[in-house]
Amino acid sequence: MSYFINVILPIPLDKEFTYCINKSEAIFLKPGMRVAVQFGKSKVYAALVTTVHQNAPLIYEAKEIEHILDETPIVTQYQLKLWSWISNYYLCTKGEVMRAALPGAFLLESETIILKNDKVEFDESLLKDDEFLIYEALQYQSLLRIQEIMNIIGKKNVLPVIKRLIEKKVITVQEEIYEQYKPKIVRYIRLNSEYTKEDSLRTLLDTMTRAPKQREVLMHLFTLQAKATKPIKVSELVEVSKSSSSIIRTLIDKNVLEEYHLQTDRVQFSGDIKGYTKQLNEYQDNALQEIKDSFKDKSVCLFHGVTSSGKTEVYVKLIEEAILENKQVLYLLPEIALTTQLISRLQEYFGEKLTVYHSKYSVNERVEAWNNVKEGKAKAQVIIGARSAIFLPFVDLGLIIVDEEHENTFKQYDPAPRYHARDSAIVLANMFSARVVLGSATPALETYYNAQQGKYGYVKLTRRYGNVLMPDINLVDIKTKYRKKEMTGHFSDTLLAGIHEALREGEQVILFQNRRGYSPVIECNTCGHSPQCPNCDVSLTFHNYKNQLRCHYCGYHMAMPQKCMACESVDLTTKGFGTEQIEKELKELFPDHRIGRMDQDTTRGKHGYEKIINSFEQGDIDIMVGTQMLSKGLDFRNVSLVGIMNADNLLNFPDFRAHERSFQLMQQVAGRAGRTKKRGKVLIQTFNPFHQILQQVSINDYTGMYKDQIEERHQYKYPPFYKLIKITGKHKDYNKVNEATNWLGRSFRNVFKENVLGPEFPPISRIRNQYHKNLIIKIPQGQSLGKTKEVIKKIHSSFKSIKEFSGVRVVINVDNY
Ligand code: ADP
Ligand code: ZN
Ligand code: ZN
Repeated sequence: MSYFINVILPIPLDKEFTYCINKSEAIFLKPGMRVAVQFGKSKVYAALVTTVHQNAPLIYEAKEIEHILDETPIVTQYQLKLWSWISNYYLCTKGEVMRAALPGAFLLESETIILKNDKVEFDESLLKDDEFLIYEALQYQSLLRIQEIMNIIGKKNVLPVIKRLIEKKVITVQEEIYEQYKPKIVRYIRLNSEYTKEDSLRTLLDTMTRAPKQREVLMHLFTLQAKATKPIKVSELVEVSKSSSSIIRTLIDKNVLEEYHLQTDRVQFSGDIKGYTKQLNEYQDNALQEIKDSFKDKSVCLFHGVTSSGKTEVYVKLIEEAILENKQVLYLLPEIALTTQLISRLQEYFGEKLTVYHSKYSVNERVEAWNNVKEGKAKAQVIIGARSAIFLPFVDLGLIIVDEEHENTFKQYDPAPRYHARDSAIVLANMFSARVVLGSATPALETYYNAQQGKYGYVKLTRRYGNVLMPDINLVDIKTKYRKKEMTGHFSDTLLAGIHEALREGEQVILFQNRRGYSPVIECNTCGHSPQCPNCDVSLTFHNYKNQLRCHYCGYHMAMPQKCMACESVDLTTKGFGTEQIEKELKELFPDHRIGRMDQDTTRGKHGYEKIINSFEQGDIDIMVGTQMLSKGLDFRNVSLVGIMNADNLLNFPDFRAHERSFQLMQQVAGRAGRTKKRGKVLIQTFNPFHQILQQVSINDYTGMYKDQIEERHQYKYPPFYKLIKITGKHKDYNKVNEATNWLGRSFRNVFKENVLGPEFPPISRIRNQYHKNLIIKIPQGQSLGKTKEVIKKIHSSFKSIKEFSGVRVVINVDNY
């Protein structure tokens, strides 16, 4: 009898691969465990077992595995099912899904880079011989590759040793994709365990009568310990006891106190755990009841509540109930970085039960969260995270909340899997018969449509919390303003008057401009030349502060030239404007006020977002200029005016979702105004005040917008009526892309006829030196999705066998957002 396993390798391989094992291995191995295998001539991988069986592969001879890496599965059956669904639905390989799903520490392969882990101390004597060799090598070398480790310990089968060292926290793996997250180390203090008994403590205090200061510090430590449920920081003790760190040092040296270190999270919780949640008002309460009622016969509910209606507090009640039933909860957010406000709010309620899962956390932290979820620990009962959190190994999921469900950051663009986290979350929830709440003030058209069709429940909340009125939105016709010379820079007199008034009342202002930088185009007045990115098909954007021209697609930058690069004329002008220019104008117009800017350029670095959000929150900034980051659910108490500098460049975007998106974005930005008492004001500057979308924004007319847009979608055969699959060919040679995509276009058109659009070069057809050309396949309702995808796969594999197209990358994006 022979035994085999099928495994997923973490590479873009269409099929699972089969390896052979012996009988005892067959008894031991379970789906979800990792095995070390060789692949190709020299590569090694930690591969994931999906099935154990007895069917020898037909076309190749199965190799033996090298070693079993896990004692228990690291991946659950539910996850394997979800991976399968994602790879089928989004037309990618399971290996690609595996890569996105597993924390880096689980993904061992020849290319993995091993680093030593400085953060944790451990006992060298506990290391086995081969482990010690690696540990020692890392004292002299900052990193090691797997190949080098093979040489060091003189054998090929090294993944088990590496795995043990990762578990012992001696080493960690480097992840090149993400910025390394460095956990903060905080010093904590406690009484030496010798003195924790009452009589020894009394003796200690008696001996300290001659050191009143030290005695005082101790007394303070006791009070702190009595009150607090969490560790006590050295800094805290210094502050409360009004002593100095040198006194504490002395106590540590005397072995009275003990100091220890703990890693703290990036979004560390410093407030008190309230442990109770807010009481809902009657409207929120009704909404909560309606959501629960809708769950009686539908598993998904769209919760359509206007901005500042208090949706979060309703989610919180649902989470509380799920916790009482001992279920796990997943809270999905479009972006973690921008939501520190929300996270601390939830931490106040749920304390330790809440775990934040973030791709920027260290490998070890992510593994820890992973294991806590898999073991169903109370510590990780509520998980809050961005899209990748759907990949956690839930064991008993009861509720998923998708907050701001309309946001397109839920869809991953690059690399594969190009999955939509909202839609995948619904599939995930189904496996557990869990409930899903999709929350938004401006639902995605598709979601609203599904609710209208009765597929999802629908609950509406139209009142802001505290009965504050929805902001008063006015359109400012800047065409007329320019003609009448009522503009100062990019500000109409109306907007300026509004800002002055808000500032006079001691209120804050938000100004939205969807472009960063100073101005997008530099043009020569003599010859008309404007500097282009050498790698991409776009003009460079001028950044005044650094006096640079930058490409927003590839990061290319150069010093701002003094003269035209074509004709050497010095007569250069700038066209269009970005956040930086608005900031500069504001500084001149309001010299006595503090101006802040929030865009990709100012929020870099570790705590970039937090710093800016905090200083605005604390009133250190009066006027904040920013890009769409400002639209993301921020809750500022004192903003009374929101200005949109130019609505037109949003509306004119060449995309079938441009109008829907503009509506959502403007409503969301507007929603930052007047969230507490006074009704907020919004001014939208535009050349086109009669544009239908702007009219709808100005009267909060979501249903009107929906009706118009859904009509257009129907007429022009777009989602939700047709499904879209976008296929992009990429190559550095223009002609090659052209021919390759033409070939694909012909092949698809043979089957799908008029439901194929393109191939067409997009408006920006070259990015990072690669030409792009797109095809769109439209799939009508009623046409089998499965069969359609089979055809696409077939044509794709014929394509791959054509020699002259080799090197052309084909990217398939299902439900392209
Ligand atoms: P949304 O998510 O719908 O935009 P939020 O949940 O952020 O709205 O609520 C808006 C503001 O109202 C927040 O500052 C929140 O603390 C406050 N709030 C909402 N509901 C309540 C409540 N039941 N009791 C007290 N404050 C509330
Ligand atoms: Zn010129
Ligand atoms: Zn570029």
